[in-house]
Amino acid sequence: MHPYSGVLEVNLTALRHNWRVLQRRFCGAECGAVVKANAYGLGVVPVVGALAAEGCQNFFVANYAEAIEIKPFVAVNANIYVLQGCPAGMELGFQDAGLIPVLISKTMVERWCQHARPGAARCALKVNTGMNRLGLSASELLQCVANRDLWCDAVPIALMSHLACAEEVGHSMNDVQLQRFDEALRGVRRYFPAITASLANTAALFLDRRWHFDLARPGIGLYGGQSAMPGVEALREVVTLRLPVIQVQTIGVGESIGYGGTFCAQREMRVAVVRGGYADGVMRSLSNKAYGWWRGAIPMVGRVSMDSCAFDITDVALSEQPEEGDMIEVLGPNCSLVAQSSRAGTISYEVLTRLGERLQKHYVE
Ligand SMILES: *Cc1c(COP(=O)(O)O)cnc(C)c1O
Repeated sequence: MHPYSGVLEVNLTALRHNWRVLQRRFCGAECGAVVKANAYGLGVVPVVGALAAEGCQNFFVANYAEAIEIKPFVAVNANIYVLQGCPAGMELGFQDAGLIPVLISKTMVERWCQHARPGAARCALKVNTGMNRLGLSASELLQCVANRDLWCDAVPIALMSHLACAEEVGHSMNDVQLQRFDEALRGVRRYFPAITASLANTAALFLDRRWHFDLARPGIGLYGGQSAMPGVEALREVVTLRLPVIQVQTIGVGESIGYGGTFCAQREMRVAVVRGGYADGVMRSLSNKAYGWWRGAIPMVGRVSMDSCAFDITDVALSEQPEEGDMIEVLGPNCSLVAQSSRAGTISYEVLTRLGERLQKHYVE
């Protein structure tokens, strides 16, 4: 019997394949990897280990704690970029650890430069090109780079921006942001001609090469969660989630299933109840909408509970009915992450990052 809520299998071979596809097929120059939020919930240490072994040299995390966690597992000359920059008072800590903050405001740039120690203060600059989330405005950026006094010891090595609508091929925002980024880059290169340009997330790598620039920052595509775009079929599923059956019920016509009685049996049914509910990341919005897989697709019936949910197995051949201890796939080759996320009314990013602590993680090569 399985002591865990379920088993989350992370296929590191598929992960490495995905990074190679993104690197070789799409990138003009370098392909990094975004491993923030515990590598989108999959476990940052094994993920970073696998990507480093594949040759990845540029890692992106959200904050200092995430950067420190991966540092022992990347090559000594690898770059660790911290996407939310350097909080006030952390400048020396960042420099001691050799981290590269992505500076997102004029005050953050000034603070970084004031605290810069010679040879230790590499940084990236983020320009806001229209997403209006983080970044310096174009004019603040130019003021900063033109101010030679700022850059005695600090060294900007990369200019970054982030696309808001990259998943929508042909969206006018993509052109607007590309044009603004190009312009900002031309301005910055008057002062720092060798600066690396980084714009593309996963989706932007499936736009044409004009959006790729020097250093790409894919996240979700590595983990098999990029939604449909031309070319995306070259990426593989990475995650399989299987939940153990804890009871099989036979219920009569007119009986309902689960909280709220939201599913009502129109025929005599066999129902497999599995261990794993919304506390494990099986999103409650999947109630009556998801499919599991056991010798074929089996519909979820009733609401997702905290620790369990149920599947209709009436149509599975009698000789093949699942029993207590059998594992029902809810994400994986037969239940694609993207399709299941869309049934949950959300995106694969949220489904992955919610996968719970009670799941046992297996890493397979
Ligand atoms: C999360 C993030 C990425 C990765 O985006 P994906 O869509 O997962 O490829 C890239 N750049 C920035 C700034 C991010 O925050």
